[in-house]
Amino acid sequence: NFLPRSGLNRMAGSRTGRVPVGIYGRRPRIVVTGGAGFVGSHLVDKLIARGDDVIVIDNFFTGRKENLVHLFGNPRFELIRHDVVEPILLEVDQIYHLACPASPVHYKYNPTNVMGTLNMLGLAKRIGARFLLTSTSEVYGDPLEHPQKETYWGNVNPIGERSCYDEGKRTAETLAMDYHRGAGVEVRIARIFNTYGPRMCLDDGRVVSNFVAQAIRKQPLTVYGDGKQTRSFQYVSDLVNGLVALMEGEHVGPFNLGNPGEFTMLELAEVVKETIDSSATIEYKPNTADDPHMRKPDISKAKELLNWEPKVPLREGLPLMVNDFRNRILNEDEGKGM
Ligand code: NAD
Ligand code: UDP
Ligand code: UDP
Repeated sequence: NFLPRSGLNRMAGSRTGRVPVGIYGRRPRIVVTGGAGFVGSHLVDKLIARGDDVIVIDNFFTGRKENLVHLFGNPRFELIRHDVVEPILLEVDQIYHLACPASPVHYKYNPTNVMGTLNMLGLAKRIGARFLLTSTSEVYGDPLEHPQKETYWGNVNPIGERSCYDEGKRTAETLAMDYHRGAGVEVRIARIFNTYGPRMCLDDGRVVSNFVAQAIRKQPLTVYGDGKQTRSFQYVSDLVNGLVALMEGEHVGPFNLGNPGEFTMLELAEVVKETIDSSATIEYKPNTADDPHMRKPDISKAKELLNWEPKVPLREGLPLMVNDFRNRILNEDEGKGM
């Protein structure tokens, strides 16, 4: 009963509009690009736990083998060191495309969002795989609509310091929709809002990881600007559940995936103090250019069409990353002979 996978996929997809899990006659085979990173490694854990075959593609730009080392002996898991800016040939059923230099410190000089996304869409087209893009709330720029709905087109500076990231992701969304309309690729688009949890990069400059690491190291918490800008913070397990629901649902999106609980940076600093060290102090620093003043997802669309909503509030999620950060900071210090 062998059929070319692309044929099988298309047939099932067109009949039911759903991922035909279980009809492959074998376990679904799934690629996760960027799977050695923070979000990717948690996604891989979920897919492996439910019995899928998972191939991770990662160039370890910001990802780490440590995030996946517990899977190395597992015959259903495979890790390929590869830069998605270069073409690759694989045969799979679903592609979760997360590879991206995702933080302000790392993303500036890298064409991953455009070239990497193009290659993964080309791959999806050739083999008839379903393709999920992890886009970002940054596509809304410094939003003039609050909270942001998926229908909002955004307020983005095309030539600013953040442009490589936000315009890169906007281009990635455009490419995904073009492959969907022009080549019939089954795409899914997630617009992810600020997410935190264990395995976040220690040194990539995002606010939650900075504050948590600073509080553990007994350093002042660095608040940029006046600290009144807002963000909405989502715990990583909520995001992973949303990504899987989106991949397996019938809707292209885009869908906002985020936690609507909105905090100023000063409020976040307070929660970090309550959780880790009430004596932590605050140090004000100049803010970066084009920093969005506020951000909060409207998630009605995901609630209605994906039956998804986040479950973990900030005060419950933050303690869950503290142990992981403590251990990693301790190991770092030991590595330095301290
Ligand atoms: P991360 O930096 O931990 O993970 C990104 C992974 O991609 C890393 O493992 C990195 O090594 C890999 N990578 C980067 N460039 C690559 C390339 N050219 N080829 C192969 N691998 C490459 O970041 P994350 O927070 O896990 O983000 C995952 C995805 O979610 C990204 O696409 C990001 O834009 C999106 N996102 C994340 C957040 C968030 O708050 N974490 C918010 C919005 C969107
Ligand atoms: N691609 C890839 N793996 C594949 C198929 C395509 O990496 O299995 C890359 C390919 O090298 C190209 C990109 O995806 O750079 C877009 O492919 P597509 O076939 O859509 O465009 P074309 O090659 O026709 O310009
Ligand atoms: N920020 C801060 N202190 C830090 C790092 C960031 O006050 O040590 C602020 C930053 O200026 C921004 C907010 O926190 O207003 C969120 O920044 P992050 O880089 O985490 O996410 P993004 O700007 O991509 O939403």
